[in-house]
Amino acid sequence: MAIRMGIAGAAGRMGRALIAASAERSDLRLSALLVRDAGQGANLALPANADHAPDIVSAPERLFALSDIVIDFTSPAASVLHAGLAAERGMPLVLGTTGFDAKGERAIRAAAKKTALLRAANFATGIALLVHLVRKAAATLDMGYDIEILEMHHAMKRDAPSGTALALGDAAAEGRGRAASFAASDRSGIRKTGEIGFAVLRGGDVIGDHEVIFAGAGERLSLAHRATDRLVFARGALRAAAWLYGRPAGLYGLDDMLGLRAPEDRTDGE
Ligand code: NAD
Repeated sequence: MAIRMGIAGAAGRMGRALIAASAERSDLRLSALLVRDAGQGANLALPANADHAPDIVSAPERLFALSDIVIDFTSPAASVLHAGLAAERGMPLVLGTTGFDAKGERAIRAAAKKTALLRAANFATGIALLVHLVRKAAATLDMGYDIEILEMHHAMKRDAPSGTALALGDAAAEGRGRAASFAASDRSGIRKTGEIGFAVLRGGDVIGDHEVIFAGAGERLSLAHRATDRLVFARGALRAAAWLYGRPAGLYGLDDMLGLRAPEDRTDGE
């Protein structure tokens, strides 16, 4: 029996990619699509092979009632609401939204105490690996190497730096074994040793480029990832949904799904 899957943010860039990618999986069945208003649902391209058309709904409670698992790529405010509904129902939730403030972060963690929640700022497998490589590089190279993180996204992206860039910054800080010290947005004056800097570029239809530069005296190491198709995130999120279904409450990440992190090393969510 296929798992009934609901999508929140179905009319968005990622929602449409999720609908398209869902046609590739027989273990997941699109059951409900949450749109902001009925107009948004009118022109959604549904997979031709769907033997049961999903319900298009605009009330989140309906989305949850019709689904066994929900995938959410919306906005921080909507995702906090959806995480609360998932927690109330003990329903697993895959969360792709980025840009939460501290209060939103707390709400997500609280929800993960009551239900299985898998969150990733970037569902590309290559990014999960990049996070590890950055942690390793930061642990290997001394503080003489300045770390700069550069990201570029399409002009419509709202949060900056991207959630992925921040996750890469956290990985670099972890590798160095110290709390993250991010450079202030005002970069005038000389660079402080140990700071992790960000550069944000916005324009056109760039899906997501990230580069981490370790700049030392006499050499520069650069680790980069470029997403060229939004389907890469969608496929990762669908795989995450199939993996998450049936797991106990907790805050999971791609590390857990890909076996890159031992359960005893998990510090989040418990
Ligand atoms: P988008 O603006 O194209 O789509 C968001 C959709 O959510 C829109 O259709 C909007 O109407 C809907 N929405 C917002 N609030 C809602 C609400 N209260 N109820 C119902 N629907 C609501 O954005 P996008 O490019 O699809 O990205 C969405 C989020 O996912 C962003 O936070 C983005 O940073 C993130 N993202 C994550 C990944 C990843 O791999 N984790 C990849 C791409 C984008």
